[in-house]
Amino acid sequence: MAAAKLTSGERDAVIIGGGHNGLTAAAYLAAAGLKVTLLERREILGGCCVTEEIAPECRASTTSYIASMLRPEVIHELDLAAHGLRMVPCNPALAVPFPDGSALPWWTDRDRMLRELEQLSPRDARQFFRVDDELKRLARYLEPFFLEAPPDFSRGGLRGNVDRLRLGARFRKITDAEVSRLVELLTGSLGEFLQRNFENEKVRTLLLANSLYGKHGGPWQPGSSVGLLFHLLRGGIKEVQGFFGHVIGGMGAIAQALAAAARKAGAELRTGSPVARVDVRGGRARGVVLEDGTEIPARVVLSNADPKRTFLRLVDPRELPDDFRRAVDAIRMNGPCAKVNLVLAEEPRVRGIPDDWRPSERALFTLVPSLDFAERSYDAAKWGKIPDDLWVDCVIASNVDPTLAPAGRHVMTCFVQFVPYRLDGSSWDAERERLGDAVIRAIAEYAPNVPRSLVARQVLTPLDLERIYGLTEGNIFHGDLSLDQLFFMRPVPGWSQYRTPIDGLYLCGAGAHPGGGVTGAPGRNAAHQVLSDWKRGPLRRSRA
Ligand SMILES: Cc1cc2nc3c(=O)[nH]c(=O)nc-3n(C[C@H](O)[C@H](O)[C@H](O)COP(=O)(O)OP(=O)(O)OC[C@H]3O[C@@H](n4cnc5c(N)ncnc54)[C@H](O)[C@@H]3O)c2cc1C
Repeated sequence: MAAAKLTSGERDAVIIGGGHNGLTAAAYLAAAGLKVTLLERREILGGCCVTEEIAPECRASTTSYIASMLRPEVIHELDLAAHGLRMVPCNPALAVPFPDGSALPWWTDRDRMLRELEQLSPRDARQFFRVDDELKRLARYLEPFFLEAPPDFSRGGLRGNVDRLRLGARFRKITDAEVSRLVELLTGSLGEFLQRNFENEKVRTLLLANSLYGKHGGPWQPGSSVGLLFHLLRGGIKEVQGFFGHVIGGMGAIAQALAAAARKAGAELRTGSPVARVDVRGGRARGVVLEDGTEIPARVVLSNADPKRTFLRLVDPRELPDDFRRAVDAIRMNGPCAKVNLVLAEEPRVRGIPDDWRPSERALFTLVPSLDFAERSYDAAKWGKIPDDLWVDCVIASNVDPTLAPAGRHVMTCFVQFVPYRLDGSSWDAERERLGDAVIRAIAEYAPNVPRSLVARQVLTPLDLERIYGLTEGNIFHGDLSLDQLFFMRPVPGWSQYRTPIDGLYLCGAGAHPGGGVTGAPGRNAAHQVLSDWKRGPLRRSRA
């Protein structure tokens, strides 16, 4: 079939995928004066950062649901508030109900939190703030790395030395004790950390619920304590460390604000435009070809699709070194999460969460009653089973933003970890509704009015996350966030600076440093890398 030529002619940059990182990259590149076209396969922009209708007039953040990591720099530089972004701090940041009918909230107000903890253990109450202060101090060492390309240790010469010096400069003021603590947190297990530091099981569980998110591994796995640092980055418009935010209008409002910023800067954003392949000739990306055969020439191509999708499906294998393809193929994906979105006729009444708390204070609860429960849950998922012990993170979004549902309706999103991508002896098409039923049963143990008030239910298994949102193996972060897949190892060693073995092809999504979550960081960093290469000339000279 003869490919149709695009009438608008060659673009400076084409971006494959309109997830929030693709949109971020589009906004920065267009603002720098490049002619940018972004191509999204779905009919909606935002990727895993969307608000969608799940029942008549009821809208939900169908995938990501809490904004905790969106970089303040992105918010300010792209003026997202002027483009309609409004976030409301979660207070409590989370709450864990227990089988004995009590619940432990994590208040953001220090005095209120102190009073809550003192009832459980005066020792842990003191320790909680001491540990929190220390973790915040340590997280500040890591924070600057989020918004820059990681050092490339494979490079020699002046550039390699500059990278090494940059790394050294970031840790100039670190003390010996802090180095030990950092290494311990990066390599140790969350379970051991919590046992060592806290005596009360409920306090331990609260920290667990806040620190192990969306990744492979139970709380006793080495390296699981790194999550304690991840959630302590600055976030929100006011740049608060450890920020958790509800987004008014759902997470899609972030994507909409980014899209508005990109359009204002002149970017063209197209939906319903699946890219079939990157056009590579002579070792250089020269544009893309859509599934309908349309060719879109460009001097540079950025991919917001995950690394496996980008390199194993959109690029001719002959254009990539074998060892690179093997390394990409080995990236750990394999789920391990699902999402169940509900419309309810009544607000869930959760045991232990008092009716006289404000509606926004009653908006979150996490079902993970102990470390052992979490470990059992991961263990089952590891063997390809749907766990009997389901860890479910629930947000009643309509308690904070009533515009999401009409009167008499409530929207609750339920994030489920851990579940496998590959089920042992069955398939997700056969088991989808069984997972939905199990989630409702798990919630009913704490909020008995939920089953009778169910109006609509959307179950997104890891397979659905792959099919609908384009996530290879349903991995919500475009690759597990384990130490061996982070920093200069992300997406694969030697290629952490957004460039790829193909000249003019860049990765700008969560599969690149610093990884997944709604941060905008990979999109911003990749755009800066493109612009720095652009200034040096090779991209401008590449016009075929
Ligand atoms: C269920 C779930 C819950 C989550 N919860 C949270 C949370 O509460 N907080 C948080 O911070 N993070 C959360 N995350 C993680 C976070 O949403 C993602 O890591 C992040 O949104 C990834 O953004 P991205 O722009 O890099 O990629 P994506 O959002 O995956 O976007 C990539 C885009 O590329 C498109 N695409 C792929 N291939 C092609 C092609 N060939 N042609 C055209 N377009 C293509 C896809 O359709 C998609 O729109 C969650 C994710 C999921 C799935």
